[in-house]
This record gives sequence, C-alpha cells and structure tokens, in this order.
Amino acid sequence: MHQGSCLCGSIKYSIDDNLKLIVNCHCRFCSKAHGAPFTTLLFMPFAKLEMIEGKELLAGYDVKAMNAVRCFCSRCGSRLYNYLPSMGMISLVVATLDTDAELHPIANINIESKCSWYPINDELPQFRSAPSRSEFGQLLSS
Ligand SMILES: [Zn+2]
Ligand SMILES: [Zn+2]
Repeated sequence: MHQGSCLCGSIKYSIDDNLKLIVNCHCRFCSKAHGAPFTTLLFMPFAKLEMIEGKELLAGYDVKAMNAVRCFCSRCGSRLYNYLPSMGMISLVVATLDTDAELHPIANINIESKCSWYPINDELPQFRSAPSRSEFGQLLSS
C-alpha cells in the first residue's frame, strides 16, 4: 500500500499497486490541466484506489473528448487522478504520492501533441499516442 495527498492535505488516499506502469504523458489535456509540458502518471485500476480523507472535497471535470473525468481537490486545486470509466482505470498523478518507493517512468507517451518548446532529453521509449495493452506489456518485461 502507498499513500498520497493533495497540496493542502485535505484529501488523502491509498493505493494498492506495484507502481510499475509509470509514464510521462505529453498530451494536451495533461499540459493544460497541470500547466506543465508533461505529467508523470501511474496507470492502475480504479478499484485499487481508496479515499482515506476528504472525499467530499474531490471535484471532477468531465473531459468529453477523452471520455474521462479529471479529479482534483476543490480546496487547493491539486490534480490527483484522471478517471477513465469505460476502462475502469485511472491515471494517478505520481507527484501526489507520499511514498519512499523508487519510481521510474518507463516511457514518454502522446508525444504527437507535446509542447514544441519542451525538448524531451531522456532515453525512454517514445510513443506518438497512448501505447496499447501489449505495448505496455513489452515495456514492463524489457
Ligand atoms: Zn487540497
Ligand atoms: Zn495526458
């Protein structure tokens, strides 16, 4: 189990996950929502996320174009996760985790819409869009 929280600490959550499926997402939605060229995300099942405190402060913004809900703290504005109901998955904002575990992004994804002013200067594999399930599997086994 690992725990995380928002900036103001009102919302606390725990997750049951091995913290392996971590990517740097360069899509426009992440850039806009976070005010940053990319967001480091952990893909994991929604069912493995548990709200410990402050659930009533959790707000959601529907992003119709991606059939997802971006969930954030209505008090401090911290983005916590993006919920994809059709897949039963979330992409959790890794920077909100309060864990000592070692975290390693495994890829840069959605680089077709990345900010032109941000040069990607790491050696991680790059994907123009979101990797498929099998591509993710290969990344994890390599
Ligand atoms: Zn907060
Ligand atoms: Zn994104």
